[in-house]
Amino acid sequence: MTTAAGATAQKTPLLQHAPLPDMLLQALRRDNEVVDFHALTDTAFRERASEFEILLTNGEDTVTRERMRSLPALKLIANFGVGYDGIDVQTAAELGVRVTNTPDVLTDDVADLALGLLLGASRQIPAAQGFLESGAWAGGGFAWTRRVSGSRLGIVGMGRIGEAVARRASAFDMAIRYFSRRAKPGVGEGYEPSLMALATWADALVVCLPGGGETKGLVDAKVLQALGPRGILVNVGRGSVVDEDALIRTLHAGELGGAGLDVFASEPHVPQELQGLPNVVLTPHIGSATWQTRLAMSTLVVENITAFQQGLPLVTPAA
Ligand code: NAP
Repeated sequence: MTTAAGATAQKTPLLQHAPLPDMLLQALRRDNEVVDFHALTDTAFRERASEFEILLTNGEDTVTRERMRSLPALKLIANFGVGYDGIDVQTAAELGVRVTNTPDVLTDDVADLALGLLLGASRQIPAAQGFLESGAWAGGGFAWTRRVSGSRLGIVGMGRIGEAVARRASAFDMAIRYFSRRAKPGVGEGYEPSLMALATWADALVVCLPGGGETKGLVDAKVLQALGPRGILVNVGRGSVVDEDALIRTLHAGELGGAGLDVFASEPHVPQELQGLPNVVLTPHIGSATWQTRLAMSTLVVENITAFQQGLPLVTPAA
């Protein structure tokens, strides 16, 4: 940064704690010095720890109590992503550290992918392509699959993404019901306070829940069995919400019809048992990964940091 007098002002150091897109880093570097936490030696970190007021992270990272306490000047954690279950928000509140995230701008992309995974798993689109490319078509047609249009959709977590999934699903003439902790005012779809009852009713469940202790393992073996041998589970929320071992067991036992998964219990590890199944479609956590959305998310991170630095209200405070 160059001042009116022509002198070069000191740039503000920001601590980058997780991978972030180049376009975001470039935008931040105009007025700040971005310091990669993982490139610092322990000694270098200790020497500089008291310089950082702002920590940059992403939705898949973990920011522990210990990390926050090791940064005595910390005042803001700017998260690139809407989900911030990896941040210990209780400690952040205790220490007076604000947290921002990037809601809304990614909602449509994640909902698009949810519908893609539902169609992909129900109609077995990747398996059908594999069948065609293997030359098997010459020996007869691909096995019949199951219809999506007009079927029953259970949305698990009727937040921003859940509502966007519901809007898309209604264009497929689907009957829609949803589960969350409480009925959402203004939502036309039926509220189902029991996840088991929703799974029993539905032909497909789309999980749009945040991660964290409260939702861990909510979709367990019983829920998957209630969804049943013709049911499809889609997860675009967090991998921790689904009991992955139970998912593998029910899929292999034929107790669940199929799955479309963008998120996994311990990313980037994806159990071998989930791979190579015709009724399972897997994507590597790409819900918000389009150029348009990643640009919008980057802009929102910069806006939050700028607002903080100028003493203005945060644009999208998460906690
Ligand atoms: P949101 O608007 O906050 O919606 C979350 C919904 O979950 C709320 O309606 C909430 O309803 C419900 N909920 C929260 N805790 C619950 C619990 N313990 N039991 C039952 N329901 C609960 O968030 P969003 O913007 O839709 O995003 C949802 C999640 O999607 C994010 O947190 C993130 O984990 C995930 N995500 C994934 C990707 C991807 O790339 N795949 C991208 C973006 C986001 P109640 O408060 O009424 O319970």
